[in-house]
Amino acid sequence: MNIDKDTLASNFIQDIIEEDLKTGKHQGRVHTRFPPEPNGYLHIGHAKSICLNFGTAIKYNGPCNLRFDDTNPAKEDVEYVDSIQEDVKWLGFDWEDRIYYASDYFEQLYEYAVQMIRDGMAYICELSPEEIKNHRGTLTMPGKESPYRNRPIEENLDLFKRMRAGEFSDGAKVLRAKIDMASPNLNMRDPVIYRIMRATHHRTGDKWCIYPMYDYAHPLSDDIEAITHSICTLEFEDHRPLYDWVLKACRIQDGPQQIEFARLNLNYTVMSKRKLRQLVEENFVDSWDDPRMPTISGLRRRGYTPESLRDFCERIGVAKANSIVDIALLEHCIRENLNSKAPRVMAVLRPLKVIIENYPEGKTEELEAEYNPENPELGSRKIPFSREIYIEQEDFMENPPKKYFRLYPGAEVRLKYAYIIKCQQVIKNEKGQVVELRCTYDPDTKSGTPGGDARKVKGTLHWLSAAGVVKSQVRLYSHLFVKENPDEDTDGTTFKDYINPESLELLSDSLVESALAMAEAGSRYQFFRHGYFIVDTKDSKEGSLVFNRIVSLKDSWAKMQKALR
Ligand code: ATP
Ligand code: MG
Repeated sequence: MNIDKDTLASNFIQDIIEEDLKTGKHQGRVHTRFPPEPNGYLHIGHAKSICLNFGTAIKYNGPCNLRFDDTNPAKEDVEYVDSIQEDVKWLGFDWEDRIYYASDYFEQLYEYAVQMIRDGMAYICELSPEEIKNHRGTLTMPGKESPYRNRPIEENLDLFKRMRAGEFSDGAKVLRAKIDMASPNLNMRDPVIYRIMRATHHRTGDKWCIYPMYDYAHPLSDDIEAITHSICTLEFEDHRPLYDWVLKACRIQDGPQQIEFARLNLNYTVMSKRKLRQLVEENFVDSWDDPRMPTISGLRRRGYTPESLRDFCERIGVAKANSIVDIALLEHCIRENLNSKAPRVMAVLRPLKVIIENYPEGKTEELEAEYNPENPELGSRKIPFSREIYIEQEDFMENPPKKYFRLYPGAEVRLKYAYIIKCQQVIKNEKGQVVELRCTYDPDTKSGTPGGDARKVKGTLHWLSAAGVVKSQVRLYSHLFVKENPDEDTDGTTFKDYINPESLELLSDSLVESALAMAEAGSRYQFFRHGYFIVDTKDSKEGSLVFNRIVSLKDSWAKMQKALR
């Protein structure tokens, strides 16, 4: 892994760390962690957190751990554990041998709880979840103390032991921190820290029937791993006093420090694992890695590169205020990344046959075509030209509007790398649809030959010779949601009411250059005028190519920036 630390933009978290380094806090160490809950696939929001946590560690020559926050067996699964590792690695980050699981600390967390009970900091409560909620009070009203709050320590110890031993049914009792039912911060009103739940854990099996809550397990897991800066999203800001309280109650000094930043939101998509799971389970998309999904696996399959996602995470920056990022910026990043890297080839997505009447039958010319003028290292290939070719259906109009510079009856256009042709005749089927054009070519206009480019015409079209094409399937995507902020539930609607019914367009008769016949799964190309494409890694096979469009060439982000300047 060689991410250059000098390429990492500065942010307010680094300012905090610089200050800590100056004052000698945490003995000058910087140790971060990325702590996903394995209850779904990671999304681009997680990529921001991964880049921030691993990036901060790289910047200060410290380690970053991968920790699975697996304290809720009801929702977690090894499928997710595996996908998360794959995604972090693919993004380009390395946890080396530091892969941890909160579940590995269950014994230690239990011991801490016992110590807290001994110190009179926690008690067993027998109120029902409903009653606990009713006792909690509101922002303007203090809560009510549980009748079990002042249970003798010995009794608490005994009950907690028996909770662990499985003597009580699920939900019958909980362990609560004894803090302050009148605290203005609701999180401090004697939060539940252990509950009884009989669920088989993907790692500990049926060893435990009590499980620690996030707010309790997280600060202790951080401390067990000697984390210095525990970076999390803004919704945990109100939990910070509890984070600090837990550490103190467990007699931990100079422990980790929680720092919050704003989570990433993107327009035209949703970003919570819960909602993404609904899209998968209710078949709005094919899978977690459907190329329309904002998951890391979906973006990977769509054709995004790790570099483009890291670049995006750098550009959006790290702030303390929530905002919504324009998805056009993400698209801009992959265009920038592929501009000089991807070979540029010709593909005709919706073919229209053209016969060049004055070109000899049976003749084929080989035309030299560079793969990418911005990157000569990519070399070139030969493209055949012959009497029968294909152009894009949308590049012909029988009755064009003014300023239409493509083909229409009587018009001339240049075929890229080849000749100028003129449309002589339009052939239609019985339904009146245009099925073929008859054209002539001007033999004196061959591209790249002396004088061949002298005569200028307004339009240049891409094309393919019938003699050198590979039929392929092409998938064109648009935003998964029609509404900019589908998360906003207005007038009783939900995000599912805004799913774009046309987010996927399947083309099955597309043609690509024969140079792509052996294209490997995962290889990326620019198709002239159509955008960037990747050979699908799941459905493409030798002999039947499937291309996903990553993005079109229209860069609305760059355009907007230009207008702003
Ligand atoms: P979700 O709501 O999508 O389930 P989560 O926060 O519950 O997300 P976790 O697995 O708990 O998911 O998250 C792991 C880490 O990723 C956490 O530190 C969390 O703060 C961070 N994270 C999650 N979503 C985002 C986001 N949209 N932007 C930045 N960081 C995020
Ligand atoms: Mg979560």
